[in-house]
Amino acid sequence: MVMCKEIVENIIGYIEAELDDKTLEELEKHLHDCPECQAFVRTYKKMLELTGKLKERTFVTPEIRKKLKELLISKIKYQES
Ligand SMILES: [Zn+2]
Repeated sequence: MVMCKEIVENIIGYIEAELDDKTLEELEKHLHDCPECQAFVRTYKKMLELTGKLKERTFVTPEIRKKLKELLISKIKYQES
């Protein structure tokens, strides 16, 4: 059973298609049933688009990845409390 935290851990790999088939399948199953995680994916994709526009291509620096991950984790923690 995939939890929301695991989605956050793997969301970058998910969006950038870096996951192996098994992980991808599990994440997609979770996403299908979890509106919160669907919203996270949308938010992340939007940020990627904005970043891509600024740099005229999709390129996410490690700093952006880190910030986004912290943002998503803090959101999940907020929802759980
Ligand atoms: Zn979830």
